[in-house]
Amino acid sequence: AKRAGRGRVMTFTPALHAELKRIRKRSDQIQYGLEKGEFIPYFQPQVDARTGMISGCEVLARWNHPDEGLIPPDEFIPVAEQIRVVQDIDRTVFLQALDALERLRAVDLTLPKMSFNVSVGRILDPDIIRSVRSLQINGTQVAFELLESILLEEEGAVFEHHLDLLKECGVDIEVDDFGSGRASIIGVMRVAPNTIKIDRRLIQPMVEDDAVCGLVQAIVDIGRTLQIDVTAEGVETLEHAHVLSSMGCKTLQGYALARPMPESQLAGFLQGYRPL
Ligand code: C2E
Ligand code: CA
Ligand code: CA
Ligand code: CA
Repeated sequence: AKRAGRGRVMTFTPALHAELKRIRKRSDQIQYGLEKGEFIPYFQPQVDARTGMISGCEVLARWNHPDEGLIPPDEFIPVAEQIRVVQDIDRTVFLQALDALERLRAVDLTLPKMSFNVSVGRILDPDIIRSVRSLQINGTQVAFELLESILLEEEGAVFEHHLDLLKECGVDIEVDDFGSGRASIIGVMRVAPNTIKIDRRLIQPMVEDDAVCGLVQAIVDIGRTLQIDVTAEGVETLEHAHVLSSMGCKTLQGYALARPMPESQLAGFLQGYRPL
């Protein structure tokens, strides 16, 4: 038996052994999947709450596993973080999404903005500044979404320096899952983000719960006061969309508007899109 925190005794049971074996197998598969190019971008369109027009999209990683099919990020990002390859996933997803943008442009389609989820590992990646400096995308704003929880931790000098360089290169910084953690408004504002994304766990209970509704309104008001754009994610119903736009929320994202989709469906979606 092994001691594990707070005096608890962790027994090396067959179940634990099986779990460790599973994680090890997953890690090997992730490394191999990276070599095989199995990690791909999906795209979820975002809509301007006022005009109803497409204002951009969030890029979401998917693992196109040869045997298991499409695996969602919650099943591989945490393992990838542990074995320190998450920056490689972030990088390949980023490059592929930019290629997709190029192909859209070739058929006269464009996106005003493309937002990427980035891990701490990716911000610390020496390659990130180089790949952003050499970016040549006309007319599409690149944004990096960082979790609120990351921005509240002290990540050190390299992290802050890279964040500054990214801003100098014209990359927008968005605070993801705003309101989900021990939200310190001062802590988040220190980063001077362009956008805050209200966590979907605040959007969903909004219509049944007046207190949550007031909280969401307060976040929108903070954004207006500080001249920071506010995006709501997890917009699942037209009622959500209606309430959020009357609150003054700038951008909407969620199943009510569009689900995340592969590149093969994106052009068709953009071509056929009509505001609600
Ligand atoms: P997130 O950044 O909060 O992304 C939004 C998640 O909400 C996505 O889940 C999206 O599919 C889902 N979603 C969108 N609209 C709705 C809705 O109306 N209702 C509900 N219930 N969900 C909605 P997904 O794609 O499974 O991604 C999960 C998380 O994995 C993301 O959460 C993000 O933190 C992380 N992630 C995704 N792609 C990447 C990546 O390329 N790199 C890194 N480091 N993390 C990623
Ligand atoms: Ca995100
Ligand atoms: Ca989020
Ligand atoms: Ca999340």
